[in-house]
Amino acid sequence: MPRTAVSTLASPVPRAADSDRRRTSASAVLRSVLEHGPVARSTVARLTGLSPASVTEHCARLAELGLLRESAAPRRSNGVGRPHVPVDLDDTRFLVAGVHVAVPYTTVALLDLRGRVLARRELKHGRTDPGRVLARAAEGLAGLFAAVPGRRPLGVGVALGGWVDRETGTVVEHELLGWREVPVRELLGARTGLPVHVDGHARALVNAERLFGRARGSGSVLHLFVGNVVDAAFATHDEVHHGPRSAAGTIAHLPVPGGTEPCPCGRTGCLQAELSERTLCRRARAAGVTDSADPMRVVAAAADGDPVARRLLTDRARATGRAAGPLLDVLNPETVVVTEVGVIHFEDCLDALREAVGAGRSATVLPTSFPESVLALAGGSVALDVLFRDPLGASPEAI
Ligand SMILES: [Zn+2]
Repeated sequence: MPRTAVSTLASPVPRAADSDRRRTSASAVLRSVLEHGPVARSTVARLTGLSPASVTEHCARLAELGLLRESAAPRRSNGVGRPHVPVDLDDTRFLVAGVHVAVPYTTVALLDLRGRVLARRELKHGRTDPGRVLARAAEGLAGLFAAVPGRRPLGVGVALGGWVDRETGTVVEHELLGWREVPVRELLGARTGLPVHVDGHARALVNAERLFGRARGSGSVLHLFVGNVVDAAFATHDEVHHGPRSAAGTIAHLPVPGGTEPCPCGRTGCLQAELSERTLCRRARAAGVTDSADPMRVVAAAADGDPVARRLLTDRARATGRAAGPLLDVLNPETVVVTEVGVIHFEDCLDALREAVGAGRSATVLPTSFPESVLALAGGSVALDVLFRDPLGASPEAI
């Protein structure tokens, strides 16, 4: 029969498609349990559109892998019949490690499967050559593993600014660190013996917001990170846009109207030069607010009532909003999440940002959901995104 002949010839294709479908369904089940757990399997079936039998099968497999467990308190419907035992994420067995490399220091951290920080440490850079920075990160993680015994690490996520190619695990270019074509996955994998996943930190943070933060369930999210590095990431539903070699989100050299800061690229008024924490601190020093290069000193001065510090921060928030405007016009996101020190700490900075983003744009503008742990969370989110996307492939048996 021609039909049989066709299906025999084509058999490898449906098999691959089946496996993809299985992975996608397992991911949908685990995501649903993360968001709604403890939750009845029947509810997961309704939420995911999968059949109850398929949900039961996936739950059994995910429980076998130690990612999911039956919740402690069974609920009976009307006190009779079979108890409906809800399922929940098992957040007690595993952890992921995270490394975030910023310009002045590296943050290493351990996270549970809900993205909660179990342990963290900051390692100040002496020199920023990649071999040394990554060796110290591996040592830092080894120290944290020893401090949190009894949980098995699933992998290491690394997040940093600049241009990061997720596919190859390479930092293509990070101007401020002076890194070029650094094979981070290879270098850190060799030192830790764990699977390593690498991504740009704006994308890492958009994933953290999608999985664990206030952007959960949003149709589209733009994340703006304004630190020393200034970058952006955009996700529609569960897809974060990368583009070829993950070059999307490079906004460092967008021109800011009226900007006066010279940029290393040779122009004046580039976004990163205008908004970086270095520039903020330099302006704060010039105005006599602080003698430090630490932006938190400006925040502390503003909190103590220093009007000049407050104005520097609101001006920066306003400039961030003005710079974000054209991006919003192009991308039209439902939600905009901003990680910036002033906006995190002061309502009037958030107001200035929202005002500058402007009426007529319908996006909801929010500060980061993780004000205390944004850098500790960034690296681990890269690994957690991999896990929740493909729990069958990223789970311990696959390691
Ligand atoms: Zn520039």
